[in-house]
Amino acid sequence: MKINLRDLTYEKLEEFILGLGEPKFRAKQIFKWLYLGINSIDDMTNLSKDLRERLSSISTVFLPEIEEKFVSGIDETRKYLLKLDDGNYIESVLMKYKHGYTICISSQVGCRMGCAFCASTIGGRIRNLTPSEIIGQVMVVSNDLKERISNIVMMGIGEPFDNFENVMTFLSNVSHPDGLNIGHRHITLSTCGIADKIRDLAHLAPQITLSISLHATNDEMRNSIMPVNKKYNIATLMEACKYYIYKTNRRISFEYTLIAGVNDDLKTARELSKLLSGMLCHVNLIPVNAVNETGFKKTDKNKVEEFRSYLENHKIPATVRREMGSDINAACGQLRKNRLDRERCD
Ligand code: SAH
Repeated sequence: MKINLRDLTYEKLEEFILGLGEPKFRAKQIFKWLYLGINSIDDMTNLSKDLRERLSSISTVFLPEIEEKFVSGIDETRKYLLKLDDGNYIESVLMKYKHGYTICISSQVGCRMGCAFCASTIGGRIRNLTPSEIIGQVMVVSNDLKERISNIVMMGIGEPFDNFENVMTFLSNVSHPDGLNIGHRHITLSTCGIADKIRDLAHLAPQITLSISLHATNDEMRNSIMPVNKKYNIATLMEACKYYIYKTNRRISFEYTLIAGVNDDLKTARELSKLLSGMLCHVNLIPVNAVNETGFKKTDKNKVEEFRSYLENHKIPATVRREMGSDINAACGQLRKNRLDRERCD
């Protein structure tokens, strides 16, 4: 198996190059080429032919390939179905905001967290994405767009904390000045609540925004829609979140998907405001996206606004997520799922 050079951090690449008997500065040259977006080692024109041949015999610079692309006629949101070198598919979504482009990227092929409302988890987890496949999504989409992408959210397919090490390598390369040079303050990582990893991240203290998919206010309610809660219950999760804020002094963003009749009444809003009271945080309310298999329904607009203003009136900053690309809408994980269903029928 050849090693993908984008799977290495800068430091590991240096070790790798020194191991080939080459001077250290070659690693810097190679690292720069990698994130300029070359897709062949032969394109590294300041390396000798001999070194390029040696590198090609033991390593690759493969990037995911665009399989399908959907562009919204309403707001230019783009959804990409990308194909990996083993034939697996993942999704990335590009959104245009006033301040620039944000990409939503995947961290795994499928997901094993089992959230009841989510399309990404329906077929389980196939495998983790490698660091090159994670950063490759940003590179391939940016190249297709011919524009710089300024913000990244890890809210696509997969649970980033179920693939911790590869995600950390990605964070290192994406922010490196000779890498993609996208600062951690422009990156959001979303987790379903793996409390141990929240603490691990707190120790590393990158300046990213941590987003927690909370979606419920008590263990009974959360157990019924998010199996991860049986391992890390709400009290354990909140302790880890408070520790994270204490160590990093960063505001946490709580994602709260509103599902009609499940977690959207004012009694629940009151519970939520008590749970988050006094925390350095923000709540992002998301009316649930309908996924055929789940049968969950969106909370209606008036009730969403009631829920939001209840939180605001109780000193919890809350916003409602704007829906984007509604004409090409498929809830997270649906593009890949539709594709797999189609292949099964063929
Ligand atoms: N595994 C990570 C990141 C991927 S999901 C996590 O759980 O945070 C990104 C966000 O979309 C999460 O908040 C998730 O709960 C939410 N989500 C998943 N399916 C959804 C749906 N059908 N409607 C609305 N939000 C959904």
